[in-house]
Parts: sequence; structure tokens; C-alpha cells
Amino acid sequence: MKYRLGIDLGGTNIAVVLLNLDDLEKQHKGIIARAHGPTPYTFGYDAVVADIARLCFECLKKVDVDIEEVAYAGIGAPGVVDREKGILVYSSNLKFKQVPLAESLSKLLKIPVYLDNDANLAALGEMLLGAAQGSKNAVIITLGTGIGGGVFVEGKLMLGFNDGAGELGHHVIKAKGRPCTCGRQGCWETYSSARGLLQTCNEIILDYPASSLWQHVDAKGQIKDCPTIFAAYDQGDLAAKRIIEEYLQMLTIGLANIVNLFQPEVIALSGGLSNRSDILLPNLQSGIAKEVYAYRQLPQTKIIKALLGNDAGLFGAALLKEI
Ligand SMILES: [Zn+2]
Repeated sequence: MKYRLGIDLGGTNIAVVLLNLDDLEKQHKGIIARAHGPTPYTFGYDAVVADIARLCFECLKKVDVDIEEVAYAGIGAPGVVDREKGILVYSSNLKFKQVPLAESLSKLLKIPVYLDNDANLAALGEMLLGAAQGSKNAVIITLGTGIGGGVFVEGKLMLGFNDGAGELGHHVIKAKGRPCTCGRQGCWETYSSARGLLQTCNEIILDYPASSLWQHVDAKGQIKDCPTIFAAYDQGDLAAKRIIEEYLQMLTIGLANIVNLFQPEVIALSGGLSNRSDILLPNLQSGIAKEVYAYRQLPQTKIIKALLGNDAGLFGAALLKEI
């Protein structure tokens, strides 16, 4: 059977794709139909499952494929999952605890359903069809509100005890540094996520009363979005220059640690901040080269931009049983 369903259950939206395995080499990478809608989580668990099933059938109907022609559906959910049992153990976004998501959806679709964590599946998508395709040792890092990621060692996603490995955002890069949501201080994500960059910005602009960034602050005197900082940087604003320099310094420390720990062939950056890879990548590549152990003696890890954007998780879900 050549068809697979890929589902991304998000806190605000549900997205579904139908994938044709015979078309993976084509421009659309096998996606032959899509459906999406808001997540009705305020109506409870059963309503969410019913809506996911409805969107799956909507997808199938668009291209006249019967559910019996689909080998399985893969679903990515935010939070802690028991992959073996298909249980969503806990999701703070969806307010679900211990729900048998795979089994419930399988009853409605009448095909096997497999569940995994959404960040793992996004990393898997980039590994199979995106920026890290062809690399057995790769790290995918999402620079979003926080920092998430997936580490592939010899072609396999590193899961660790409790499936808890790969919390890349929560290694400390500064003792007694910024407080983190995890309870520690100085975690990488407190500096190198979008939230971290904004905090750095709002600390530094106080030293630059003439900065153009002051035209964009809110009622509390704060810059609220990262593109504003990069736009000021593009225009040669001195405050923005220092903000980005400090940001790059912290991002580089974390990435060099990751290179030393896992020695990946490729590190692919995704998430909102990767939209400014034109600024980040050249600086990171040269900065990391100076910090990595034995860098002169070894071929360098390539730092690249992820390719699949929001579709990465959908590809990972649809292909979750293919590796
Ligand atoms: Zn932390």
C-alpha cells in the first residue's frame, strides 16, 4: 500500500496530509491532499478525536482514495507520549492526561494509528526528506519561543531513558544565568530562543537611547518581536548590532557543545529565527569552528537551514513506521 496519513495535532490547529510513497521524489514530496482546522479542545477529548478523523476523511475524499488503501496514520502531539501504547500521557497545551489517542483514532479510521511527540516527528521529517536527508548523524534544532530538537545517531533518533533525551534547550551555558521555565538557571534556551533574543534586546537598548528600535517599543517600553530587531540590524542600527552579536555568541556556545557531544555531520536549524539564516549561518559556521574540539583536524559539521518548515512534522508522522 502506497498511501499514508500524517497528522499534526497542535494546541491551536490540526493539520492532516495524505502522502503517496511513490511520489516522494517529486516537487510536492508525495503530499497529494491536505486538510486543516482549529483544535476543538475546549469541547473535550472525544470532540478532538472526532475532528481529526473528519479531517482525515476530508483529505481522502479530495483525491478519491479509500481509507482501506492507507497502510496507517501517524500522529504527532505536543507533550509527553508513550509511543509503545499510543497514549498521550500529558499535554499542557491540550489539557489532556493519559488519553489513548492512537487507539481512539484507530477505532474511527479503522486502520492502525501510531503516536509520537511532535518535535520528534518534525526532526524525523527533516531527516528523511529535508535538510538532513542522507546524513546518519544529524541534529535538528528548532529555534522558536523555546528550543527543541532531535538528535539522530547512526540514523536513529536518540530517545534515552523515559524517551526523555534530546532536551537541547536545557543545557546550562551560564552559571547563575537567566532563570528558566524548567527550574534551572542559565539554560541555553533562555538566551538563544526567540524569547531569549527579546530579553537580550530589551536589556541592551537601555544603553542606546538613540537606537531606531525605540520607535517600535510597546507601552511597557519592550520590543515584542524578533523580525524588528533583524530589520534594525539590516539598517546598521548600533544597538541591534550588539544585540545580534551577543545572541550569536550564546547560540555559538550551545551549538559548539552539541558538536562536541554528538559530532553530527549536519545541524539543521528550523523555527522562526531560522528565517534569518542569511545572518546567522555564516557567523555560526565560523564561530563554531573556533570553539569545537580538534576542529582543525576534522571535517567540519555543516550548519544549515531546515527545509520543510511546518510540514516537517507532517512528513515525520506520515513516515513514522518507514525507518
Ligand atoms: Zn531549562
